[in-house]
Amino acid sequence: MTIGRTVYLNGKFCPVEDATISPFDRGFLLAHAAYEVTSVYDGRFIDLEGHLSRLRRTLEGISIPNPYSDEQWAEIHSELIDKNGMEEGTVYLEVTAGDYGMRDFAGPETFTPTVFLYSDARPLIGDLGRDGIRAITLGDTRWKRRDMKTVQLLSQALAYRAAREAGAETAFMVEDGLVTEAASANAWIVDADGKLITRELSHSILPGITRAGIVSLLKADGLEIIERAFTPEEAASATEVFTTSSGAIVAPVVALDGKPVGDGKPGPVTRRIQRLYYEAMGADVAAVAPWALG
Ligand code: PLP
Repeated sequence: MTIGRTVYLNGKFCPVEDATISPFDRGFLLAHAAYEVTSVYDGRFIDLEGHLSRLRRTLEGISIPNPYSDEQWAEIHSELIDKNGMEEGTVYLEVTAGDYGMRDFAGPETFTPTVFLYSDARPLIGDLGRDGIRAITLGDTRWKRRDMKTVQLLSQALAYRAAREAGAETAFMVEDGLVTEAASANAWIVDADGKLITRELSHSILPGITRAGIVSLLKADGLEIIERAFTPEEAASATEVFTTSSGAIVAPVVALDGKPVGDGKPGPVTRRIQRLYYEAMGADVAAVAPWALG
């Protein structure tokens, strides 16, 4: 991870050390803020339109006016990666309900948002996609509107800490006996009949932009997807398990709660999906991810 030296704060690009916000910002005091993380590959944004449309929905849902048009957002994103010379990695954006000079639950009638963006240069296709990750299962303690991408991430932060303590890299969160999603990714399994299953969209999970991209690629490729919730037991007995997110793209899960998934190695369906998605990103798969060729 290399955080770009130049960041964007409230209308200006500036060195990261000059980017300061008020302690009365509602993002800081109340987690009243939306965020997005968009991947960049070969200097191009992956489905920025999808991220901006989800941002619009989140902002509307949490009463924050959208400060920019999609064109302005795209311009800021491009200028940020240009200034930092970033070709591959992610751009983080956050819009908070702003600073009102006091801590007050309801706040003013209309908010004046705080806008912050930074870039993080790192390989999107690498060891993690090649070797996979380990996951644990734990209870989902988040609020009930997980379809909105807000910075209320304490449950996920604690889930990652619990995973690390258990020698794993991520956690699958479980509610009412069903997996909702991974701590910062959507969750998928392949059952013994080779069926690909991922939870249907609802208020219970984030509508992942990577998930949406994969659903359309797979439909075009003739691979059937069953959109339904699955249990942790189904995940434990699945032949393959993987997660999808902008930061880690397609991450094979090779162990769940300390037991191997399938034969403990990334499986053929996961590899096929990685290949399709990497190609759609414009990657030369034979050069950067020969392991995905199967
Ligand atoms: N689910 C959760 C809880 C997330 O935090 C994320 C990404 O941060 C995702 C799913 C995947 O979403 P996307 O593919 O848009 O990155």
